[in-house]
Amino acid sequence: MALPLPECFSQIPRHAILYQSPSPIHPLPTLSRLTHPRINLFAKREDHSSPLACSGNKYRKLEYIVPDILSNKPIHHAHENNLTPAAPLPGPATTLVTEGAIQSNHTVQVAALARILGLKAIVLLHRGTGGGLHAAVDKEAYLRSGNVQVNRLLGAEVRVCEEGDPLADDATPLLKGLAAEGERPYWIPGGASLHPLGGLGYARAAFEIAEQEEGIGLGGSGRFDYVFVACGSGSTVGGLVAGFKLLEKTKTGSGSRRVVGILNSPTKPRAYHEERVLAFARRAGGMVGLEDGDIGMDDVRLDDRFVGSGYGVFDADTKESLESMARTEGMVLDPVYTAKVARGMMHWVEEREIVNIQQPLDEVNVLFIHTGGQAALGAYADIK
Ligand SMILES: *Cc1c(COP(=O)(O)O)cnc(C)c1O
Repeated sequence: MALPLPECFSQIPRHAILYQSPSPIHPLPTLSRLTHPRINLFAKREDHSSPLACSGNKYRKLEYIVPDILSNKPIHHAHENNLTPAAPLPGPATTLVTEGAIQSNHTVQVAALARILGLKAIVLLHRGTGGGLHAAVDKEAYLRSGNVQVNRLLGAEVRVCEEGDPLADDATPLLKGLAAEGERPYWIPGGASLHPLGGLGYARAAFEIAEQEEGIGLGGSGRFDYVFVACGSGSTVGGLVAGFKLLEKTKTGSGSRRVVGILNSPTKPRAYHEERVLAFARRAGGMVGLEDGDIGMDDVRLDDRFVGSGYGVFDADTKESLESMARTEGMVLDPVYTAKVARGMMHWVEEREIVNIQQPLDEVNVLFIHTGGQAALGAYADIK
């Protein structure tokens, strides 16, 4: 099924990594029944979006980055903190280099992508990012299981970086070294969010969701009035905000949907993430036909009440949320992102923070986006 996109959006090159059919959306009947008769809960399964390893939200972003990776003159290959403007690579990339926390899902998705493109993958895993390693009882297990194991299985070169490693600030020396060895290295920023094309995948996802809404036959507004999704590096939320805005602007009668980004880390203040998400939304928006003024700060809704004690720390609240989804819907979430999103969403539902402003007595449709990440669970196996 070809997704109907506005002209200038449909012309942006995309390399399919996801299945041809959209990732499924299904109701969450047990949770809905337990909450409120007028609130209909659904899940979109980005953890079922691609045949590649540990399907998750990064594959969708990477679809728009691959054409640059494979072009004869890749231009967006430099580290984001490299101050000197980099010339295009002299040919298609030969090695993908990326980074993340020890249990990063993003790095696995880059490693699997490298495999199907026939490229090498180097993965930098930072011991100092987040609190998962610190909180782990069995640190050795945390460092070798879950996503670390999958990265190795995929044949990625895994480099575990100590806290304060200068490579975390700027991987340019590593990239230069690879170039000196005859490689053409291509840097993909953590979560792919700072990559100039990183927001396009979720802008497209907004159109996919709108298309799926019609098939479901939702009550109330006929749309998902609220969309709950994790906000980590930010371009998933940013892309969705841009996509829904474009939809509103180009499709008459399509109405608005509220995207709520649930933050999962207390490290940086909410305002920091809001600025980033706004920038990502505007950057993606600018490429698909929106103007800067079309997207404002009031389109960016981030909730920092469910961050818990640290990024990647599987605290009691997060664990309860993971268990609750497993024991009601039989659906397994991940310990770092989606369990916190589910907790946030259920808070909004139970505390009646979800409102139908247009028609207060009507039904409200709520979409939870499952962005994947379950492979990390193994690394948290020692938490009772
Ligand atoms: C990366 C990731 C996110 C966060 O997405 P961002 O675009 O970085 O905000 C959410 N959930 C999972 C499972 C992820 O791996």
